[in-house]
Amino acid sequence: MTLEERVARVRAALARESAAWGRPPRLIAVTKYSTVEQILPLENAGVTDIGENRVQAIRDKLPGLGGRFSVHLIGQLQSNKVKYIIRDVCMIHSLDHESLAREIDRQAQKANLRMPVLIQVNIAREPQKGGIEEENLFPFLRLCAGLPGLHVRGLMTMMPLGAEREIIEGYFARMRTLLDWCRQENMQGTDMTELSMGMSQDYDLAARHGATMVRVGSALFR
Ligand SMILES: *Cc1c(COP(=O)(O)O)cnc(C)c1O
Repeated sequence: MTLEERVARVRAALARESAAWGRPPRLIAVTKYSTVEQILPLENAGVTDIGENRVQAIRDKLPGLGGRFSVHLIGQLQSNKVKYIIRDVCMIHSLDHESLAREIDRQAQKANLRMPVLIQVNIAREPQKGGIEEENLFPFLRLCAGLPGLHVRGLMTMMPLGAEREIIEGYFARMRTLLDWCRQENMQGTDMTELSMGMSQDYDLAARHGATMVRVGSALFR
């Protein structure tokens, strides 16, 4: 299968599964295992958004990408590296602690911008995973809402590797509920409409449960 065929296959599943939600989630192609030469053809396949999980990889690949893609930072981010990507990414998906929030705020203000961020929720309570526990979501959201360099746009989560599909569906449904609660709060400084969830193994289930963005790597690049 060609890259374009793989993209088309993912998009078809997203469209089918999201029918009840009115529109399909945005496809973010995760390019962390791909070279610039492998990434560029995504443009012809109609993909406009790519996701990387390391600051250094973004620094290395950006010059070769020539501004063709919106770059999302999807992986854990160390506070001391925020300054290296603050002008180059369109969204940070992995915000999960106060010191990181404050550093993004500081660097964003310095760069004279307001950084779109998602709060990462550790919905499966995996000790080794990033993300805040759901009972801490509202206090953390309130803190982030008060930082003028942040524009809190929604939530992000990652599933336990290899979990059963029914378990995963339960977590995705819970995330959608949490997002809806956050949106109903209508907190000033937030605009809680985005839900980033679903990877190669489960993007179809994420679309079924109201994801607005899916992050898909290996299903596109193998
Ligand atoms: C690698 C990665 C993905 C994509 O994983 P695939 O299984 O290759 O689709 C999505 N989100 C994050 C945060 C990742 O690090």
